[in-house]
Amino acid sequence: MPKYAVLVVDMLEDFIHGNLKCERAERIIQPLKTLLDAARRYGFPVVYCNDAHRPDIDAEFELWGPHAIDGTPGSQVIEELKPEEGDFIVKKRRYSGFFQTDLHLLLRELGVDTVIVTGLHTNICVKHTTSDAFNWGFKIIIPKDCVEAFSEEDHKWGLSYMEKVYGAKITESAEVISLFRNLATRTRNNLS
Ligand code: ZN
Repeated sequence: MPKYAVLVVDMLEDFIHGNLKCERAERIIQPLKTLLDAARRYGFPVVYCNDAHRPDIDAEFELWGPHAIDGTPGSQVIEELKPEEGDFIVKKRRYSGFFQTDLHLLLRELGVDTVIVTGLHTNICVKHTTSDAFNWGFKIIIPKDCVEAFSEEDHKWGLSYMEKVYGAKITESAEVISLFRNLATRTRNNLS
């Protein structure tokens, strides 16, 4: 049986309200909140992959300007999606949640084989995190109502690339929640 974890990439103040504000991010907050609540309810891990840059020296700043500097209010997860007890937080300094972090080790320790990747941006950090998930042999599901980008074009390109190149299953959050429900029911039936 698959073992899922939900990855939440960069749903941070600076990306939604601050320096790198993405207008289109607003629309994914509610579906993502519903998905995270379901994951917790059915016992699947929620792992936040949060930008936490060092001031001044970080290589990304040349391209994007300073953002999500570790310890600043801009690096905090937005109020609506705050981590809850039992969730995991991985700090990253590059696009991918796997690069020079303990995400891979954590997912292995949790017995995860399938990652559900959500957050920002479909064509940048979500895409790079998905790329490394593929390289490490994880199966990938992307609920398309829980990822966004600066433009429709970027969003669509990201989804299509991840589907073609990493074999990501592109779906909706409601579908993922029913996967959770079915798996939880099967596990319960097997136990009884
Ligand atoms: Zn960054």
